[in-house]
Amino acid sequence: MRRKLVAGNWKMHGMRPHLREIDAIAAAARAHPQVDALLCVPYTLIAAAADIAPDFTIGAQDVHESDQGAHTGDISAPMLVEAGAKVVIVGHSERRADHAETSHHTWAKAAAARRHGLNVILCCGETEAEHDAGRAERIVQSQIEKSLPDGAAPDWLTIAYEPRWAIGTGKTPTLDEIATMHAILRAKLRGMIGPSANEMRILYGGSVSGANAASILAVDDVDGALVGGASLTAAKFVPIIEAAA
Ligand code: PGA
Repeated sequence: MRRKLVAGNWKMHGMRPHLREIDAIAAAARAHPQVDALLCVPYTLIAAAADIAPDFTIGAQDVHESDQGAHTGDISAPMLVEAGAKVVIVGHSERRADHAETSHHTWAKAAAARRHGLNVILCCGETEAEHDAGRAERIVQSQIEKSLPDGAAPDWLTIAYEPRWAIGTGKTPTLDEIATMHAILRAKLRGMIGPSANEMRILYGGSVSGANAASILAVDDVDGALVGGASLTAAKFVPIIEAAA
């Protein structure tokens, strides 16, 4: 039995006044212990968020593959751990698009996070053009082939399928399309890591909201959601946690 995971991704949103949302979201998570919930916040909020909600999981949205060095503006896994992060997103499509990150970078980042005991949410997903050209399955399989870290195991690694065209657009694939892609991902993982793939969580991400969460979370092989816009306030995020409960 895979526990549902509802992960929020605040992207480049959130300053100190928003800590009260984290406090409220943590309280709701506490009320639904059968669901795993977490928030990946901007670096500047990690320590404060971890302080106000010590029993709630706080994460980051990226990490550098090296532990230290001449990498202006980057952040390392040991720094995230020191700040109080327990998890990190790697390979998000906005990192791939804005910073030219490849699946190889994603692989190296996941490995660095793992070396320092961080759990990892590894993202994959096709663009709209790839989707329209019928190439989504091949693209996503290839991303997983190239980015799945050595020793990938369900106790520290989660996969997130996020079609790029569904992110922040209000558009989502049909439930059948989501089911198909998640089954393909599960089969791919089984081929790469064996039966433990059956325990690995595969999240869906892209325009998840309180309105569509229950139906998406009921799809076979959907083990939770990675939520952007609707994770920014307790009013929007808590209904998604409730839908997973
Ligand atoms: P969205 O973003 O929920 O705002 O579509 C999802 C994501 O980018 O993780």
